[in-house]
Amino acid sequence: GEDPRLPRIASTIRVIPDFPKPGIMFQDITTLLLDHEAFRHTIDMFVERYRDKRITVVAGIEARGFIFGPPIALAIGCKFVPMRKPKKLPGEVISEEYSLEYGTDIMEMHVGAVQPGDRALVIDDLIATGGTLAAAIRLLERVGAEVVECACVIELPELQGYQRLGGKPLFVLVKAA
Ligand code: AMP
Repeated sequence: GEDPRLPRIASTIRVIPDFPKPGIMFQDITTLLLDHEAFRHTIDMFVERYRDKRITVVAGIEARGFIFGPPIALAIGCKFVPMRKPKKLPGEVISEEYSLEYGTDIMEMHVGAVQPGDRALVIDDLIATGGTLAAAIRLLERVGAEVVECACVIELPELQGYQRLGGKPLFVLVKAA
């Protein structure tokens, strides 16, 4: 049967219609963070999945991958690397452009943070079209890392974002309607 933690986690996610613009059903994880048991269950479920997978780096995507990634990295015993919006990181960076609904955006990572042979877990709060996770995969692979899996709290399955991940596995806790 289903893990009883999953409906508890799902019930704490607030959906706000028409944010940040009309037609978007925004999945708000700040209400999950208000429920420390649901937050703990979320982290525990990722840790249980990844503790024995020889992950050497958790790569968290700005901004909400910075909330879920670090506790997972601490619990499984590996480094955390932030994947940031442009012009935020102070050191030398490598950049990857990716497409949005309108226009493009850029994701950056510090040079040297991830090394050839690193085994990466990519974490974000939500996968919609998959474009963001796909950019993170490209950045990590350009520096010689192996992307073991991508993990999100929430998937919008109708958008079939997993199809943009180049065959990399995707693990999600909650599928939103
Ligand atoms: P995508 O690249 O289309 O998969 O979009 C994923 C990124 O956009 C993630 O960083 C999410 O935090 C954010 N995002 C996209 N759609 C939503 C949504 N409906 N609710 C909350 N966040 C979203």
